[in-house]
Amino acid sequence: MNYDAIAIGAGLSGCSAAIQLAKLGYRILLLEQSHYPVHKLCGEFLSVEVTAAFENLGILEQVHKVGAHPIHRAYLTTSSGASFRSPLPSTALGLSRYQLDLMLFERAKDLNVTCIDNTKVTGVTGNLAEGFQVSTTKGEFSGRLVLGAFGKRSSLDRTLNRKFIAKRSPWIAYKGHFTGIDIGDVIELHSFPNGYCGLSQIETGEINVCWIAHERVMKEPIHQDLGIPESLAKNPVLADRFAHMQRVSPSLQGLSQISFARKENFYNDICMIGDTAGMITPLCGDGMAMALRAAEIAVPLVSQFLEQQINAIAFKQQYTIAWQREFQMRLQLGRIMHNCFVQPPLANMGVSLCQMVPALGNWIIGATRGKPQQLLKTDFASNALT
Ligand SMILES: Cc1cc2nc3c(=O)[nH]c(=O)nc-3n(C[C@H](O)[C@H](O)[C@H](O)COP(=O)(O)OP(=O)(O)OC[C@H]3O[C@@H](n4cnc5c(N)ncnc54)[C@H](O)[C@@H]3O)c2cc1C
Repeated sequence: MNYDAIAIGAGLSGCSAAIQLAKLGYRILLLEQSHYPVHKLCGEFLSVEVTAAFENLGILEQVHKVGAHPIHRAYLTTSSGASFRSPLPSTALGLSRYQLDLMLFERAKDLNVTCIDNTKVTGVTGNLAEGFQVSTTKGEFSGRLVLGAFGKRSSLDRTLNRKFIAKRSPWIAYKGHFTGIDIGDVIELHSFPNGYCGLSQIETGEINVCWIAHERVMKEPIHQDLGIPESLAKNPVLADRFAHMQRVSPSLQGLSQISFARKENFYNDICMIGDTAGMITPLCGDGMAMALRAAEIAVPLVSQFLEQQINAIAFKQQYTIAWQREFQMRLQLGRIMHNCFVQPPLANMGVSLCQMVPALGNWIIGATRGKPQQLLKTDFASNALT
């Protein structure tokens, strides 16, 4: 079968694009290497602007039904004892990727997207003028265009020979679910030398703990009682949290070489959405909202291209301009904040400043996320399959 579009990767951006395009009546193939449902490495904190996106995608009711945990406040601390508390501009949510990605994948299936998991894409050839062939561990597929939604780092980046993959990145991250403490409706971010750690409650009542650090922390001795590199326990609040928590996940999930480098919006004529086009630092807690938003930006242009209302050049130009306009500043601010928060003196100065001038902290929280979106203008009602 020749698909109108093939989305590679069924995370936030791939599922969102597939659902929106299926609602417009297109034949979509969604390919995912993992076998769903699956736990994924993530802070599992959903920023306030996702609500409209979830409503547009038709999963908002289910998100609340499974008990996504409402989060109203942020609490930042440093290893020298500075702290800052702030209300969030609106309600954020704590929801595991295990639930969320499955929910989106199932929603895509309901809308007649051909969803195939447990299938790794191993190569892509072709172009926007002649169409694409996608090779996978389960055979070959063809489509008029390809959406690259394969996340921050994939073996496919290497196969495609993308520039960013050649450059080593020192950032590593770990995540796991814990019990034993109650942090209520707060997203906690604790800085420590060379990294930071986020804690937030998810739908199960467990605490998702996710930390990112320079790889040099792995050379440190592991803290005897807490089972973590010593740097983390240098933040007194974090040390106290770990001292009272018990791990629920059988083991921690880890990932190395997390890159915040600039990437291409189009590569070999593949339209990159989500982290494949550029990843915001986890400190901002906005990567999932951005992935959903990137799909919203891409879909109307994909539709115009498929309807031959715009040519390949206009498609590429318009998408790149819209993407850069929406995300470029946020990505830069995210990199600056990340670099400050991993260095104790700068983290301390920044958090102390926010403590003294709360308006500054509130501005930073606002500036690293998008504006809440309205329901999409795309005329789903007239084209919808359901
Ligand atoms: C440590 C850390 C903490 C974070 N915490 C948060 C947070 O709290 N809140 C937030 O909003 N964001 C957070 N993020 C960012 C967020 O996880 C991402 O921005 C978001 O998941 C991007 O969505 P995506 O669709 O681009 O990619 P993903 O959600 O990563 O989806 C990509 C999918 O592609 C699949 N795939 C990859 N290669 C192939 C292949 N060859 N063939 C088939 N399938 C393939 C993968 O299995 C995956 O399912 C965090 C990131 C990190 C690293």
